[in-house]
Amino acid sequence: MASIFTKIISGEIPCYKIAENDDFFAFLDINPNAKGHTLCIPKKEVNKIMDLDEETYLGLMAFSRKIGRALEKAVACKRVGMTVIGLEVPHVHVHLIPLNDMKDATFQQKVAFTDVEFKAIAESIKAELLY
Ligand code: 5GP
Repeated sequence: MASIFTKIISGEIPCYKIAENDDFFAFLDINPNAKGHTLCIPKKEVNKIMDLDEETYLGLMAFSRKIGRALEKAVACKRVGMTVIGLEVPHVHVHLIPLNDMKDATFQQKVAFTDVEFKAIAESIKAELLY
């Protein structure tokens, strides 16, 4: 069965998309730790990051860095943290989380946004990708 994230890539499930290319896709986390919390995924559906082939792994890191640099400009933060967990969704994803405090990295504290706010956040990150 296709993962939730494969359904997001295909458009079957909606998302606040940031960017995509032939192999990777970035979108806002629906239950963010902090404003701008973004997920970067390979289009190839693989459960665990350690099982990715090296080319996809390195490509995912390069893609995540590009998105993370835009995110760091778009959202006020001390830095963008990167983490991989995967206990909830069995489709490799890199969490990019704007950090101001260690609590932002813990997944214990969540922030809510309206549809309009999510759209505005996505647009502000996308705008920084143009430079
Ligand atoms: P993990 O698998 O790394 O523990 O966490 C999965 C992440 O995916 C969570 O932060 C969760 O909020 C996010 N997530 C789960 N389902 C969806 C979804 O349908 N849409 C989006 N945008 N994010 C999701």
